[in-house]
Amino acid sequence: MILKFINKVFHRKNAIYESPQQPTIISRNQHAIQRQQIAPCALKIVTQLQQAGHVSYIVGGATRDMLLGFAPKDFDVATNATPEQIRHIFRRSRIIGRRFRLVHVMCGAEIVEVSTFRGNSKIDESVQVDQHGRLLHDNVFGTQQEDAARRDFTVNALLYDPEKEEIIDYVNGYADIQAKKLRIIGDPEQRYREDPVRMLRAVRLASKLGLHIEENTALPISKLAPLLQNVPESRLFDEMLKLLLSGCALTCVTELRARGLHHGLLPLLDTILEQPLGKQFITLALKNTDERIQQNKPVSAGFLFATLLWHEVLSSWNALRGRGEQTFPALFSAINQTLAIQHKKLAIPQRFYSVMQEIWTMQPRFEMRVGRRPFQLVSHPRFRSAYDFMLIRCESGELDPGLKAWWEAFIIADQAQREQMMTELPAIKSKKRRRRKKTTLKNKAAMPAVTTV
Ligand code: ATP
Ligand code: MG
Repeated sequence: MILKFINKVFHRKNAIYESPQQPTIISRNQHAIQRQQIAPCALKIVTQLQQAGHVSYIVGGATRDMLLGFAPKDFDVATNATPEQIRHIFRRSRIIGRRFRLVHVMCGAEIVEVSTFRGNSKIDESVQVDQHGRLLHDNVFGTQQEDAARRDFTVNALLYDPEKEEIIDYVNGYADIQAKKLRIIGDPEQRYREDPVRMLRAVRLASKLGLHIEENTALPISKLAPLLQNVPESRLFDEMLKLLLSGCALTCVTELRARGLHHGLLPLLDTILEQPLGKQFITLALKNTDERIQQNKPVSAGFLFATLLWHEVLSSWNALRGRGEQTFPALFSAINQTLAIQHKKLAIPQRFYSVMQEIWTMQPRFEMRVGRRPFQLVSHPRFRSAYDFMLIRCESGELDPGLKAWWEAFIIADQAQREQMMTELPAIKSKKRRRRKKTTLKNKAAMPAVTTV
């Protein structure tokens, strides 16, 4: 009864979106994909499936990225073979997933995900949606045409056959790729209701691939943004991590804000970006992360979350110090407070906490340039991350830029030069040492508080 009503409200008789029966075929001399661009492992899997009498294609992001001139992150294969049939063909493979079963095929250290074509089941009493229209189950096998139609955007729905070197297009995705348009398949409102994460994917894919979101695809986003609140937290977290590590986090975050999609994601981000120092700090941190990703340098998610939450830690830390608390106990309390609040809002998995805590608790040590402290700090295993973090604090105007210059020189100096640099700080040295002794003793008692978070 309720389902019938929901389907009526969302005009859903059948969730197989209108698409022509006959696809457009883009033949080898019409497109720019070269067989050599495909990872040998994925190529072998497609060939073996075809030799066993099945149809199979390279699908999704890989086909899209090759057409847009980007190197694909990974290659997904879709086929009409069932998981059991796939498993039977590839000795080194295993079936994963309970709700919708996929097969992971291993070649060497590589893993290729092979999925059976999915249909979007007919919306009737057997299909479950929540009260906002979100699909709770989406797990039936289908034809290749249905598989293309149930994908999110037209540019993600192209099937590439590496044997014939042709592209099969049921949804006009090839024309959209050429026009650099990101267009949702089917009725935009209905598709966002089925899965609100598609709104975040629209922002991420458009920013990352330099596409513009087609007008009707963009239109319902602001209105439907609150639906993100119904998405399971772990899924939101995964999508946010993808977005922050996409190499275009700064553009994505700006776009998310412009479209009102940021509220449920990292609630503190909103408040932080409204304070001038916080905004400057996060902008620099995201820019820095984007550059590292573009240069293929490693990026730590813990570091990124440490930057996103730093101004929360900082304002509590300043408040506690203003009330007379010593540097370290105040910092530990500020960290505990921030993580406790954050934990209730967006579940950052605990595994990131230790990196964040280490980066934060090392910060005061950069300012304590006395005795052997800088020598000990530089050999700390987490020094590099904490140092990069301190640089952003200097660049954002939070710390004296002289501190940045001093540490840059200290890092490249040899032992004798380092000793010399220390003797050039005599005034600070004697003054701070006396005060610090007291602080250190008091702080020993406060230390365990951090480890309990
Ligand atoms: P990326 O480059 O980030 O991997 P992608 O498009 O390949 O981008 P995946 O999450 O790997 O993203 O998804 C693979 C494919 O599955 C997509 O290209 C799309 O066809 C389909 N897909 C992914 N998420 C959805 C969704 N929420 N709704 C419908 N189809 C989806
Ligand atoms: Mg992908």
